[in-house]
Amino acid sequence: MENRNEYRNVWVYAEQRQGAITPVVYELLGEGKKIAEKTGSELCAFLIGSNVASLAGELIEYGAEKVYLAESPLLEYYTTDGYAKVLSDAIKEYKPEIVLYGATHIGRDLAPRIAARVNTGLTADCTKLEVDPEDKKLMQTRPAFGGNLMATIVCPDHRPQMSTVRPGVMEKAARNSDNKGSVIQVDMQLEPADIRTEVIEIVKHKKDMVSLVDANFIVSGGKGLGCADGFAMLRQLAEVLGGTVGASRAAVDAGWIDHANQVGQTGTTVKPTIYFACGISGAIQHLAGMSESDIIIAINKNPMAPIFDIADYGIVGDVNEVVPMLIEAFTQYNEEKEFA
Ligand code: FAD
Repeated sequence: MENRNEYRNVWVYAEQRQGAITPVVYELLGEGKKIAEKTGSELCAFLIGSNVASLAGELIEYGAEKVYLAESPLLEYYTTDGYAKVLSDAIKEYKPEIVLYGATHIGRDLAPRIAARVNTGLTADCTKLEVDPEDKKLMQTRPAFGGNLMATIVCPDHRPQMSTVRPGVMEKAARNSDNKGSVIQVDMQLEPADIRTEVIEIVKHKKDMVSLVDANFIVSGGKGLGCADGFAMLRQLAEVLGGTVGASRAAVDAGWIDHANQVGQTGTTVKPTIYFACGISGAIQHLAGMSESDIIIAINKNPMAPIFDIADYGIVGDVNEVVPMLIEAFTQYNEEKEFA
């Protein structure tokens, strides 16, 4: 067991892709600040890449007091080997007490590798982080047993304490251009032979980009749509509202829509201004991803459907009748606004 007293400060892995910071990093900085204040430590960001130094200022404006910068042409693209080596070597050298990662594809790949290399634990997919007032341990909460209960996990004996955190759950840090911080160049021992994979080309997703996390209006469909074509109707409603389309897992499993659109425990967590649940029963795993929406409007033909328990407005009816009426009403509203 390491000497736990040697470990201090809260680190946020500042994930970036092609020179742009991934949005969850701002949420981690917001949460990391609160934890740093409660544990009397500094909030630091760890930035890896090639020619990414210009991002350090942004991280400082979002609250990082120190930015550890690891730059090399070998780190231009994310590779598990390269990034895991650099970050785990730095953890061994600088000994942070807590390291937070976004539960993105990269975070989910990287964090377990690091945990194994530095011989510590990892709580994946956290939805809440707190500090134990008695002993300042990090209490990491995540859904367990299919979302039927929330488990709070601690890492009592090993350091650092590490979590991946679900995007869209924590509040973003506020940006302040007056914030001051320092940049520390990380001295790396990284050779081409350390990286077993070579990135030959980055191919961007060709489908329509779904930005569920940022959408103000989400029109989600479930098994009650009856078939894949039902989503064409929902896309129309989303377009009229200037929003995007979400889905339940049952609709995704049926092959009606891509997993990128899934809302819920094993999909995306969303907090739009208005969330339309169309033909969605309201299973606990779906609610886990959308119950924080400002206004929930449910359309379901079964008046006893559990979704009505959390809906602000409920429409009992057939989606195939109600959704076209909504499209018509909002289209008319938009036209009247345009000519007013
Ligand atoms: P159903 O439960 O089949 O409900 C369909 C609803 O449509 C019913 O309420 C019905 O009354 C209504 N309906 C039928 N016809 C019409 C009509 N014509 N007009 C209006 N209403 C109609 N689910 C998620 O959504 N997201 C997740 O991330 C997720 N993760 C999971 C993780 C685990 C570990 C497990 C075990 C499950 C997970 N699930 C998740 C699945 C979840 O338990 C439910 O099975 C799923 O949410 C149900 O989807 P649904 O509401 O579309 O379908």
